[in-house]
Amino acid sequence: MDKPDKINCDVLVIGGGGAGLAAAIEARATSAYVVLVEKNPELGGTTAWSIGSFTATQTPQQIAAGIDDNPEAHFEDMPKFAGKDADRDNPVLRRLFVDNANDTLQWLMSLGVEFFGPMPEPPHTRPRMHNVLPNSRAYIRLLREHARKIGVDIRCNVRARRFSLEGDRVTGIDADGPEGPIGIAATATVLASGDYAANADLKAKYISEAVSRVDAMNPTATGDGHTMAFPLGAKVLNGDVLSGPNLRFVPPPKETIDRRLPPSRIATKIMKFGLTYAPGWLLRPFVLRFTTTSMAPELDFFRNGALLVDKTGQRIDAPAQELGLRTAERPDKIGYVILDAKLAQRYSKWPDFIATAPGVAYAYLADFRKTRPDLFRRTDTIEDLASMLGMETKTLRRSVDQHNGLREDGGLTDGPFFSLGPAKSYIVLTDGGLAVDENLRLLGHGDTPVPGLWAAGSAGQGGLLLKGHGHHIGWAFTSGRIAGRNAAASLGRNG
Ligand SMILES: Cc1cc2nc3c(=O)[nH]c(=O)nc-3n(C[C@H](O)[C@H](O)[C@H](O)COP(=O)(O)OP(=O)(O)OC[C@H]3O[C@@H](n4cnc5c(N)ncnc54)[C@H](O)[C@@H]3O)c2cc1C
Repeated sequence: MDKPDKINCDVLVIGGGGAGLAAAIEARATSAYVVLVEKNPELGGTTAWSIGSFTATQTPQQIAAGIDDNPEAHFEDMPKFAGKDADRDNPVLRRLFVDNANDTLQWLMSLGVEFFGPMPEPPHTRPRMHNVLPNSRAYIRLLREHARKIGVDIRCNVRARRFSLEGDRVTGIDADGPEGPIGIAATATVLASGDYAANADLKAKYISEAVSRVDAMNPTATGDGHTMAFPLGAKVLNGDVLSGPNLRFVPPPKETIDRRLPPSRIATKIMKFGLTYAPGWLLRPFVLRFTTTSMAPELDFFRNGALLVDKTGQRIDAPAQELGLRTAERPDKIGYVILDAKLAQRYSKWPDFIATAPGVAYAYLADFRKTRPDLFRRTDTIEDLASMLGMETKTLRRSVDQHNGLREDGGLTDGPFFSLGPAKSYIVLTDGGLAVDENLRLLGHGDTPVPGLWAAGSAGQGGLLLKGHGHHIGWAFTSGRIAGRNAAASLGRNG
């Protein structure tokens, strides 16, 4: 038996999100002794924060829906999301992803994960977005259960600090455990430590000072693995690519029903049945309750006349696409959206929706009143609205007047007036991944693979552009499985 301060294993996995759990399960399938360390008290990482969409082709769901699709078409469609950045992509990793995504989706299904879909998401030329039911925690719960059952040694509250080396080979880590420092020796190590959305230094270095001040949705996405890999000569590719800063309405005070739903098979099956067969009008309020947890207001909402003010009532004066960044510079990094009766009328029906959960539902003003009363206010005058929001009347009035002076349509003139908020500015994720080769070996000094080290998920994103929905989750599980298998194969055992 190992002493608690010294652990030996065949394969060590750093990080217990989607990529790490997939890597650990696949490595363990070869009967290797696998230790997975997770710095937080619970597994999950950003994977557990996600909506959980997974984009893949030739899946059982696509076949059942009669959709003729293939990885080649997926490969061709992915760059359409990246626009002018498309030539910065890593086509080798994109190929690895599209060719293995379906196998991974089916592997997840074999572990009990249920998906609804596929949903359309232009510019994808076919519907290929699959949404996990009832929510992304199902991934974590089902993979954790399976990992435990097959004997993965999962250790939470263990934070990797640095790699230990023999020559240039990684031979494990030094870590902080619940009872102090520990060393873990490993023949092969998989780095699956997520992104750096919450690391101000890395955001300042790769993106900008302004972005470094914006909070991350997942405050524990601190890019530890990136920092640990720098002394090995590792490079960050596409470090400036990110999702956000986005304005999102703050989460409800109590967890929404979808987050509270147990991912039990029966609940999931009932939900899937309802989503497939119940008429849209019956489902809409229910689905919206699921999705209004962290809705982002559409930028066109502001272009079409909605006013954004900070918590003191001052106008946040910026082009729509910069409102997220500018809000992060205001008190408590929050803002409120103000609209009048005309705009409220316009945003009560298609095609003018305030927010969307892609492919699932569109939210209009009345949906916020019904499903998120904590965000919704309605009054007859701007003065009453100011007092409801705890703002000085003259400040809010001045902001409305400034706003109206700039708008050709006259701006916000007709009561009743409404506010939605608070909305907060967040970085959803950063896309700068460490450089890896086609076998997901981490590349160090001189772009040569570091012996004994693989990387997966956001940490091993290697310049791959994953814009659009369902590519990040798809990459996390797909790359995690491949890295875990390759790490285990390096031990020279058979499954
Ligand atoms: C709100 C939101 C919604 C999203 N929705 C979607 C979606 O619907 N579809 C999609 O494709 N993508 C989505 N994403 C992105 C997607 O969730 C992530 O890209 C993906 O889950 C990353 O998986 P990962 O395993 O690489 O990282 P993570 O899931 O973050 O796992 C990394 C783990 O490593 C741990 N760790 C870090 N450092 C250490 C250390 N030093 N020692 C030990 N453990 C450590 C972390 O605590 C974490 O648990 C969303 C993201 C957010 C924030």
